[in-house]
Amino acid sequence: MFTTVSSHVCRHGQGKLLLRLLVLKNARLCNSNSSIGKGIRSYATEHAHHEARIENIRNIGIIAHVDAGKTTTTERMLYHSGRTRHIGNVDHGNTTTDFLPMERERGITIQSAAVTFQWPPKSVLPNGQESKTINLIDTPGHQDFRYEVDRCLPILDGAVCIMDGVKGVETHTERVWQSAHLSNIPRLLYVNKLDRDGASFKRAVQEAAARLKTWPLLCQIPWWQKDEFVGVIDVIHEVGLRFSKNSGAMTVVPKETLATHNPALKDEMEKARLHLIDKLSDQDEGIMEEYLERDINVSSGTIKKAIRRLIIDGEAKFTPVFAGSSLTNIGVQPLLEAVVDYLPNPSERPELRLITGSKTVTFSEFMETAPKKKGAPHQKPEPVLSVSHVFKVVDSGARGLMSWVRTYHGSLSRSSHMWNSNMHVFEKPQNIMHVSAKDYHDIQTLPTGHIGAMTGLKQARTGDTLLTFPGHQAQAPEAYRSVRIKAPETPPAVAFISIEPYTKTAGDKIVDALQRLSREDPSIRWHKDERSEQLILSGMGLLHLEIAQDRLLTHYKIEKETAIWGDIEVEYSECLFAPTRPHHHEYDRALRGVAGRAACTVLLEPLKACHHDTLLESSIERDGNIIHVSIPLPENTDELPFDTETVRQQLFNGAIAGLSRGPRRSAPVRKCHVHITFDPEKDWSKNSTGGHITNAALFAVRAALKEAHENAQVGILEPFTNFTIHCPEEASHAIQHDISSARGGQVMEVRKPEEDDYSGSVDGQGGERIDLTRVYVPPDPYEGVQSLRDEGKKMSGSVRMLHIMGKAPLKEMMKYDGHLRSMTGGRHTLTLDPGEFELVTGPREKALALEG
Ligand code: GDP
Ligand code: MG
Repeated sequence: MFTTVSSHVCRHGQGKLLLRLLVLKNARLCNSNSSIGKGIRSYATEHAHHEARIENIRNIGIIAHVDAGKTTTTERMLYHSGRTRHIGNVDHGNTTTDFLPMERERGITIQSAAVTFQWPPKSVLPNGQESKTINLIDTPGHQDFRYEVDRCLPILDGAVCIMDGVKGVETHTERVWQSAHLSNIPRLLYVNKLDRDGASFKRAVQEAAARLKTWPLLCQIPWWQKDEFVGVIDVIHEVGLRFSKNSGAMTVVPKETLATHNPALKDEMEKARLHLIDKLSDQDEGIMEEYLERDINVSSGTIKKAIRRLIIDGEAKFTPVFAGSSLTNIGVQPLLEAVVDYLPNPSERPELRLITGSKTVTFSEFMETAPKKKGAPHQKPEPVLSVSHVFKVVDSGARGLMSWVRTYHGSLSRSSHMWNSNMHVFEKPQNIMHVSAKDYHDIQTLPTGHIGAMTGLKQARTGDTLLTFPGHQAQAPEAYRSVRIKAPETPPAVAFISIEPYTKTAGDKIVDALQRLSREDPSIRWHKDERSEQLILSGMGLLHLEIAQDRLLTHYKIEKETAIWGDIEVEYSECLFAPTRPHHHEYDRALRGVAGRAACTVLLEPLKACHHDTLLESSIERDGNIIHVSIPLPENTDELPFDTETVRQQLFNGAIAGLSRGPRRSAPVRKCHVHITFDPEKDWSKNSTGGHITNAALFAVRAALKEAHENAQVGILEPFTNFTIHCPEEASHAIQHDISSARGGQVMEVRKPEEDDYSGSVDGQGGERIDLTRVYVPPDPYEGVQSLRDEGKKMSGSVRMLHIMGKAPLKEMMKYDGHLRSMTGGRHTLTLDPGEFELVTGPREKALALEG
């Protein structure tokens, strides 16, 4: 029915691009004809991914709120690229990336999984042309697993943020968007689930502008035929793309055919293109010139280049928007094209930044200034062969602990002697592997810009930096000893579960498993309660702890009957009301038989918001506290007899340990600003060991806290959560009353979803105002008919829904879903998003005191 070659398109220099689309149309066909075994394809039949040239690599993440369709989209990408032969389905528990038994049972992503595939598939490319190698990380969307997203995002070069076409921007969408922002990750937006009843591309785009604060550049608009979502209109190439729902086979429909069969859609496409060019020419001189010369006939190549230039800084002032329905195979291939076209390769990213002492510098600044041999300032810099970052540690069972790394400079090989500048040890990997979902493939080297995993590193933890140097030294060259890539912050735990083993043997086994578990996931912590002797496992919320418990039982083979498992409870913390006086502590006891002495002075004060703004580079922020170390230089010595960085780290460690148990409930101390002064003349001596320095800080912090408690200057904090309840109007009064009177919460806003107002403007990410009335979006099809339908629903007794938003103590909300069910008959959704720790006062404080 459709002709696939358009003379019109060719006339504007778009023949090559159309040809590419035609090639893609046949991609799946060619792949399914090849005779390769079932499931994920073997590496022997694939490209040597790790050999791809840097320009051909895309390291990307898929990010979104839970259930937006990340795993489904990943699965479709694997299929269309020819990497898998059957399409897995989240609802059937057989996707490639959700491969843990827990993920398959629950239908949710818990751990991020990496997969690699080629796009466009090699089989459809003309000889001599190379596919791009896409390393993709599918991330979890539940807020309890946000650390998992936060540790992966910084090592990626681009991200696809998925929105549910019905639900629009959800709370976690905003959060991951913000996380991507912190790492300056260039992004694409994909509005998914447009096949669903109630989907609105228009609302999704408006919400993206208003809440993600980015100017949406519509590269596609949806193609509806009557009630059915059948494809997308490629605004840039001016073609329609229709998809077969079962196979996802794509048909390219030229503009002329659209004009004949659907003139309104063709007009909308032209309008969309004009808006796009108009916006781009405001920003980009290249396109402006062509626009003035050729009016609307700006070539698609020019448009694409302009979009790329606009998003590459990762500021997300502008974001290209795509449409689709991954479940019904619509829009996935063009989304892959967009990944290749718009997202950067590793060499196009801003230069690596390194923390050295109290400064953060770029890699080349560091090489220019720091690493000269001591006492030989005119010598050439000492070389470093490679710099890489461990972003994840996974216990893989048979292969043991696996450290996931991304290389930033040079390449890693199996013989590499790696300096871990966080742990201050050299280690050598047993194997270097390329990982795709649960499959591993041994490789010899991991070049710059690549992602891989290593076995055999006993000490490496998430966030550690690995460096290699020429030759074999016993110590890393001094200038490199403590150079680090910024590690992700572990968010404070908000809930815990107690475990009371029946026997010592059982206890030892559980402790071993807890150690490995928190090594895998640093947002899980554990300690032994000194009074009750219980093991306390704490984490990010109910689901996080349920999953942790599951992993202890299934993966680490802990027998449930060997211990008493408590209920999941919220984690309180402690804070200061007033500054303490300076506490000087000298630690001079023998440590493991080694005599020694060290001292320091500590002053604590309540943390104020302004302290975050003035965070000094020699400070660290940990668990909601800021710790600052000053080491005043003595006048008469040029050089100190110790490494200041090492001492600083030892003092940090002591303070962190001191703050982990408060004086009132043995709960962690938060919102505290710690000032540590270490006087090299008085506090250090030749027999000061690391342990003595750490203990001096630990005991000084403890003494300061104890005194604050004796002066009644220590308060209790509890975690709050921000909630959004979507519920029938008739239940809303009772819910609001329950939250504010019985739960200690606060309702901030109640609104009808249809009352969302996009007539104002918002502050964009780049500091410019976004006038929402000027954001172009095509009308949703049958908007009029839709509202008639809604009227009909109302008349036939359909329910009016409301959004209630506010904040409440997590303790009250953790299991609130069940309570809501009785109030709404199950016709509600509850979304929780982490809030602040807030002071417990009045009746809640009294009730807590009674609990003990
Ligand atoms: P994730 O949490 O973002 O990884 O989302 P999943 O991929 O697990 O999908 C969540 C649910 O949405 C599953 O039931 C999917 O079948 C469904 N889903 C995903 N994409 C689509 C879509 O395009 N249309 C429809 N109707 N459902 C979808
Ligand atoms: Mg998922």
